[in-house]
Amino acid sequence: MIKYDYLIVGAGLFGAVFGREAMRRGKRCLVIDRRDHIGGNVYCENVEGINVHKYGAHIFHTSDKMIWDYVNEIVPFNRYTNCPVAQAPDGKLYNLPFNMNTFYQMWGVKTPAEAEAKLEEQRREAVEALDGREPRNLEEQALVLIGRDIYDRLIKEYTEKQWGRKCTELPADIIRRLPVRLVYDNNYFNDAYQGIPVGGYNRLIEGLLEGAEIRLNCDFFDHRDELEALADKIVYTGPIDRFFDFRGGRLQYRTVRFETEVIDEPNFQGNAVVNYTSREVPFTRIIEHKHFESFGAAVYDNPRTVVSKEYSMEWTPDLEPYYPINDERNARLYESYREMTESLPKAGDGTSKYIFGGRLADYKYYDMAPTVAAALNCFK
Ligand code: FAD
Repeated sequence: MIKYDYLIVGAGLFGAVFGREAMRRGKRCLVIDRRDHIGGNVYCENVEGINVHKYGAHIFHTSDKMIWDYVNEIVPFNRYTNCPVAQAPDGKLYNLPFNMNTFYQMWGVKTPAEAEAKLEEQRREAVEALDGREPRNLEEQALVLIGRDIYDRLIKEYTEKQWGRKCTELPADIIRRLPVRLVYDNNYFNDAYQGIPVGGYNRLIEGLLEGAEIRLNCDFFDHRDELEALADKIVYTGPIDRFFDFRGGRLQYRTVRFETEVIDEPNFQGNAVVNYTSREVPFTRIIEHKHFESFGAAVYDNPRTVVSKEYSMEWTPDLEPYYPINDERNARLYESYREMTESLPKAGDGTSKYIFGGRLADYKYYDMAPTVAAALNCFK
């Protein structure tokens, strides 16, 4: 009954890169996904001629030229550069990441030496307040790293919205470094390459999966025996706890709720990403999707725009699992599931029958570039 070399469970980025590499080697693949579309979380929905990042804004970035060339071979990427701005509780806008523009907006300082002196003064106050002891929570840690003004206006309430807990109740080690740039540079990423596929992410996934046999609306667990009998090996990119029937308990996540609306004006906020750092504003960010792919005067070619407000939320099993929780309970539980993978049956050739990969099976937050790299590594 074996018809395929690989059954790939999940048509996200991991499954799609794996599928392409397998097909290039002459392997027969069946790709399934429980959703009604391919692409996993990078999927975009076309609304009013605009690619809307349905599962959250996605910006591809990497310093690995091999990965950059790999994805650009499928579809060229545009020159989008992520330069978010933040609206603070004082109502003013500040550039991110923290750089000379931010320091000018905050303190009116114009030279790197003036900014450094101001930062040092603020950090010193925080260290003195600790009176020789180590920071005990995120708030104390952030104050030591960056000082009161930036913490109060750009970090505190935003972080509390993201985690749903007070900064004084969050562990200090969530923030190890808070990089500052003493140059006028609003580019969020330090990577050599960044951008968005021209025409949107769906083109990337469609290109990767060209020629593959795909079944949508197909949940692996609804047809497990029948599907497993079809292939020599199973590539599983879904949640690892689900694979083992939640035997040890459920892994936990943070999630995001998106409120998306069409606005009858061409340019709502002038930027793809605006963060709202005040607790008075219930959402964390507004994404204006057209700015990922239209630049300059071209923004006005479409008289409408689409924006998504993002609300950070506690996860429950009926919601999308987005961000793994890095605490002891979940780390231990993930490890117990990982150990279970070692005693699964082997394939006919004695190698593992099951290959686990991607963000849900590894219970790890992966950016897109490392996801591509991880799928490519399976073939090394
Ligand atoms: P997914 O995209 O989740 O694909 C897994 C697929 O498996 C899904 O399609 C799912 O439906 C399917 N599946 C699950 N269970 C089953 C089942 N039982 N049967 C059949 N199919 C199943 N990365 C960046 O580099 N830049 C960014 O700006 C960025 N922004 C992000 C924003 C958010 C809100 C989030 C959560 C992530 C972001 N990422 C970003 C990370 C990026 O989304 C991941 O790197 C990428 O999606 C990982 O792909 P994947 O294939 O591992 O997982």
